[in-house]
Amino acid sequence: MATQITGYKSKAVAAAVALVNAVTTREGDGGEDALRELLRVNEFFWEQFEPADAEVFREWGRTLRPFFEATELDEATGLLNALMLAIPMHPHIANHEPHGLHMHYAPPSSRLVERFRAATLMKLSELVCQYGLGRTGVCAADGCENVYADTSKAGRRRFCSETCANRTNVAAFRARRRTVPEQASS
Ligand SMILES: [Zn+2]
Ligand SMILES: [Zn+2]
Repeated sequence: MATQITGYKSKAVAAAVALVNAVTTREGDGGEDALRELLRVNEFFWEQFEPADAEVFREWGRTLRPFFEATELDEATGLLNALMLAIPMHPHIANHEPHGLHMHYAPPSSRLVERFRAATLMKLSELVCQYGLGRTGVCAADGCENVYADTSKAGRRRFCSETCANRTNVAAFRARRRTVPEQASS
């Protein structure tokens, strides 16, 4: 069920996307305040963010980017599998506000950054098991480097944002209008 991945109990997929975009694009902001905000918006315990871990977060964003860029399923699953071997995992059931009962994937005494890595890795892996590469990618808009993950029901997204979708549609409309007279005269 899509809700297991995208429901209120986990915003880890969205958090992974936000981190990759923050630290691997020209327009992204990988500063400490931006990282805190990204954690807060996606319901991680941002208060536990330690500036000393900022570079670990950034490194994780750079590590995940190739997953979103992968065009072959083997490439994507190979990357996730390798990371699941490398990142300390120790699944257990947690029960805390605001989520109630839910899974934690890192060892119980882990720091925030370690929990973040484990959670984003698991949720991206679940997304791939459910949809293959059909729900993730790099924004189709010209010049945009952002990645996206589509957790909607329809699952037809190709852009990182409404802004990029609209910009591309307007450009396509103008291009069509320009070519119409030539087609009409031929
Ligand atoms: Zn939790
Ligand atoms: Zn975009």
